[in-house]
Amino acid sequence: MMTQSIEFPPTLRGQLLKNQSLADYTSWRTGGPADYLYLPADLNDLSAFLQALPEAVPLTWLGLGSNTLVRDKGIEGAVVITQGALKQLAEMDRHKIRAEAGVSAAQLARFAARTGSTGLEFMAGIPGTVGGALAMNAGCFGGETWRFVESVETINRKGEIRIRPLNDFKVAYRKVARPLDEWFVAGHFALVSGDKEKSLSDIRNLLEKRNNSQPTGTANCGSVFRNPEGNFAGQLIERCGLKGKRLGGASVSTKHANFIINENQATATDIENLIAEIGAIVEKETGVRLMPEVCIIGRS
Ligand SMILES: Cc1cc2nc3c(=O)[nH]c(=O)nc-3n(C[C@H](O)[C@H](O)[C@H](O)COP(=O)(O)OP(=O)(O)OC[C@H]3O[C@@H](n4cnc5c(N)ncnc54)[C@H](O)[C@@H]3O)c2cc1C
Repeated sequence: MMTQSIEFPPTLRGQLLKNQSLADYTSWRTGGPADYLYLPADLNDLSAFLQALPEAVPLTWLGLGSNTLVRDKGIEGAVVITQGALKQLAEMDRHKIRAEAGVSAAQLARFAARTGSTGLEFMAGIPGTVGGALAMNAGCFGGETWRFVESVETINRKGEIRIRPLNDFKVAYRKVARPLDEWFVAGHFALVSGDKEKSLSDIRNLLEKRNNSQPTGTANCGSVFRNPEGNFAGQLIERCGLKGKRLGGASVSTKHANFIINENQATATDIENLIAEIGAIVEKETGVRLMPEVCIIGRS
């Protein structure tokens, strides 16, 4: 069902797009349209947009769409895009950094390193935003986003911003339970003193490791499945002989079995069906039920 027509005040400074394809806003480069897409001008403008958005209109958030599959029938309601919008980044105090939700994880990693703070180097290779990293507790190479969070700023449907401490959230592996109807607009990261050159060199090494093990330069969403306790999803998929398996335009990466690539104009349905098929085969052959890490959203 198409969302009712909404009247927004002319004072909004962001970009409002109707019936806008989300393929350009997700790293899988596929997916249907959002009824309304909003790219806020800044935090105040986002707050004004939320105040104007009728309560009944469903609201979805996207950062860089690097962990999200948008179904082909698109998304009902409004989608807020933070990338390129909420982009303030500053050292507030020694080794304390405030990063808005639309700042890229890579930018935050480099900024922290350059200010002589250590801890966030792992973020350099995560192709998402700070908001997405907070929502997913993104991590790799032993690092995890929430290990460095002191507090976060959230916004609600009324456009009200509040600062919440760490213990308002239930944080687990690639999962964060947050108050309903609140979204992240900034994170406050508490780091420790480091050696700038070492941090920058660690970042270079981590990126090189990634290039060697992941299908860089392809349209994908990173790891599709969460690693089950004591196991690796990629190894289980590989053991079932699924590397290179194709469905429509989607295929399992031959470089990393937990990656699905949009190889040839895959639809979101191709990808979702391939995810389901991999899950069923792995469960049948190994007895392990894989759970998707990617967020699958939109009209079914
Ligand atoms: C090549 C590649 C490698 C990757 N490697 C890793 C890795 O090593 N480790 C890892 O953890 N992930 C990895 N990922 C997955 C992804 O980059 C991370 O999960 C990232 O944190 C997602 O950020 P995003 O901005 O793209 O989120 P999106 O995909 O835009 O959103 C993800 C989820 O977060 C929600 N969300 C987004 N912004 C907000 C907000 N401001 N407030 C509340 N909710 C929000 C969305 O609604 C959605 O549910 C990889 C992805 C790719 C493509």
